Amino acid sequence: MRGTAVRGVLLDVDDTLVDTRAGFAAAIEAVVEVYLPHLPAERRPEVLAMWRADAGGHYRAYTRGEIGFEVQRMRRANELHAAFGGAELDDAAYEAWRALFWGTFERSWVAHDDAVAAVRALVDAGVPVGAVTNAATALQERKLAATGLGDLVPVLASVDTFGVGKPDARIFHEGARRLGVEPGHAAYVGDELDVDARGARDAGLLGVWLDRPGARRGGPHPEDPDEARASGVRVIGSLAELPDLFAPR
Ligand SMILES: [Mg+2]
Repeated sequence: MRGTAVRGVLLDVDDTLVDTRAGFAAAIEAVVEVYLPHLPAERRPEVLAMWRADAGGHYRAYTRGEIGFEVQRMRRANELHAAFGGAELDDAAYEAWRALFWGTFERSWVAHDDAVAAVRALVDAGVPVGAVTNAATALQERKLAATGLGDLVPVLASVDTFGVGKPDARIFHEGARRLGVEPGHAAYVGDELDVDARGARDAGLLGVWLDRPGARRGGPHPEDPDEARASGVRVIGSLAELPDLFAPR
């Protein structure tokens, strides 16, 4: 990739453009209030950390096409309850849990502070921009519209496109195709080193890991910037650094 000009930029949505973590934090807080009220305040951050880490790999099983969206989320809900002393949820109980969690989550969607300005600068400069995401297209379009990004970032490929998500190379290639650039001239920017940056690199794109301060997920996912750079991944700390991707190397 070194020396190859970037002509278009593909972006991840969750925790890259949209502050999904803040939405999950609000949703998990609501869940703790209702379902885990016995949990001491100092242990509450552990619940969000466990949700984000997806230590059981349920969301990733969904993005591999192995289980449905609601199945993965019900498993994660019960995993949380088991870990923190909540009751096991049957289908009816899960439906109420889902309504609380999802309603709070949706009301909490907000763009990251650096997102709108960074994307608008690219669009104004004539750079093709789009999203490649591991959630469903309709959900991500609503999320982008709700956070002021709907007119700037079209969803070009999602877990719906081939029934699997990143790091499957096809989804990166489809994003580049719809962007109108060769994969070798596309950058892909995301907050997860393995499924985003390394996946894009392996698909022949410039893989860019957005390593915002304090935003790492923990859990089983690799998150080492030095190792990332050594493996040919670019590392940035903010979307404000996107123009640097166009500088000659
Ligand atoms: Mg993400």
